[in-house]
Amino acid sequence: MSFQFTSQIIPIAAAAAILVGLFYVAWNNRKDPVGPWFAATIAALFIWCVGYVLEILAQGLQAKTLFANTQFIGAATSSVCWWYLTRRYLGSLKTSRFLSIGLWLIPAATIALAFTNPARLFRVNPIIEFTAAPFPVLHADYGPWILWVFLPFLTLVNVSALFLLIRSIIRNPGRRRHTLVLLVSLLMPLSTTVVYVLDVLPWKDYNPTPIMFGVSGLVLTLGLFRWRLFDIVPLARDLVVENLADGVIVTDRSGQIVDMNLAAERITGVTRRDAVGGRAGSLFAGFTVLAQLLEEAGPELTLPTNRTEMTVKTGPANRFYSLTSSPVSKRGGRFLGRAVVLHDITERVSLFEQARELASKDDLTGLFNRRHFFELTAKELERSRRYHTPAAMVFMDVDHFKIVNDTYGHRMGDAVLRGVADACKLTLRDNDLMGRFGGEEFAVLLPHTPLPEAMAVAERLRVAVESLAVRIDPGDKTVGVTVSVGVAEFGEAGGAADTLDAVLERADQALYAAKEAGRNRVVAAPIKKILKAVG
Ligand code: GH3
Ligand code: MG
Ligand code: MG
Repeated sequence: MSFQFTSQIIPIAAAAAILVGLFYVAWNNRKDPVGPWFAATIAALFIWCVGYVLEILAQGLQAKTLFANTQFIGAATSSVCWWYLTRRYLGSLKTSRFLSIGLWLIPAATIALAFTNPARLFRVNPIIEFTAAPFPVLHADYGPWILWVFLPFLTLVNVSALFLLIRSIIRNPGRRRHTLVLLVSLLMPLSTTVVYVLDVLPWKDYNPTPIMFGVSGLVLTLGLFRWRLFDIVPLARDLVVENLADGVIVTDRSGQIVDMNLAAERITGVTRRDAVGGRAGSLFAGFTVLAQLLEEAGPELTLPTNRTEMTVKTGPANRFYSLTSSPVSKRGGRFLGRAVVLHDITERVSLFEQARELASKDDLTGLFNRRHFFELTAKELERSRRYHTPAAMVFMDVDHFKIVNDTYGHRMGDAVLRGVADACKLTLRDNDLMGRFGGEEFAVLLPHTPLPEAMAVAERLRVAVESLAVRIDPGDKTVGVTVSVGVAEFGEAGGAADTLDAVLERADQALYAAKEAGRNRVVAAPIKKILKAVG
């Protein structure tokens, strides 16, 4: 294989050198969604340039053909890579499998046919000509594959990329300058190829397209460094952000999602591929507050606050997140978009819940404490008043409890109180509210329960306590207690004018009557007497 130098290769070699520099930039930004396709395009163009340089320098027909074929590795793939780059840059991360197979099948077949040329599908009548250019030129006619498959395919891919870029320039003025850089970079080599293929250039057999890669490369470099071409899709995707425990979702000035990290994917269940280029409103429809915050596109919020909280249902236990939206600006202060950070506050929320529970419960029996019982009962009675549903108050006091304490000790007394509470809870429905009123006194509010039913419930409670046998440790002996119970129906005296205090008072009176009558029994509040007093 012999080579002979000619100065015609210098502009092409220069283009190749520019591509090496650009490849370095692309490789450093391979984490960016467009990075890998940028690098792949540059690599394909580089192969094309080097193949062309070697084809010019090589002397024999065989050597020239080999390097001409090598160029097709780049020529067949660069347009497809650029097409992917364009799509990613414009926000679509997905390409259907069917389309992808089609897009790669034709370049792969073209490369294979170039090196094998079966049935002269690829190249017809190759010869070396010595007169056309200052260097010996490989001359051949295009085979039917090139004419009827490969060139139409390339045209389609490039026109599609052009269409996407032009449409974006029209629709997305915020990124116009950036998209224009990509458009010009594509148009320059493309138009050069068209002119070359149409054979209207004053010089023959010297394809200036690879030189244009260098010029396009310069335009792209300018775009990258002067206008930060990939600023909005941050080329320098920070690994720290990607692996942050907090979720991060970034939108651009128009409110389009441009990025989200792994944690945000995990929290929302929406993948970056699906989200990028989309609108928060439809993507995060299941997370209303998040969508609202993300839809805020401008530097100033229209929402009253940049902080909210959100609940995510994850199986039986919910998780809670605080959301904070912050503007993202360049150093010069130019507004680029917003970043919403999702911080997991589940621990904090559950601690708060725990504290609230502690504050509402009696720690000996686990029943509601007096204050919380009052709060809940007041609400329940309000409902009963509004909807004219019955409700009853049951008051309960352990009989001769002092004797239990005095005989078995205070600790044993506590165990008995716990036993009484547990026995009652088992007897009651879920909706019934039971509180420890203090000492050995308990109160139960029975919603939707008229007096006769309430009397039956009270009787069941009395029997449950009576049947209770609390073991005395150490040993097998047990302690039993009884309760006296007073029952009053809400609203029975004074109708809607009845109050919580009044019904408590009546239940207390009934309880007193039960004690008077000999204990271990249930007594209803003396309705008539009170009615008379009211009337
Ligand atoms: P009566 O049948 O009239 O209700 O008699 P009694 O002995 O139950 O009534 P009294 O009000 O005289 O006594 C209540 C006792 O309950 C006195 C107090 O030491 C005891 N007590 C109150 N709170 C607790 C507690 O939290 N634990 C224990 N072990 N005892 C308590
Ligand atoms: Mg008492
Ligand atoms: Mg008592």
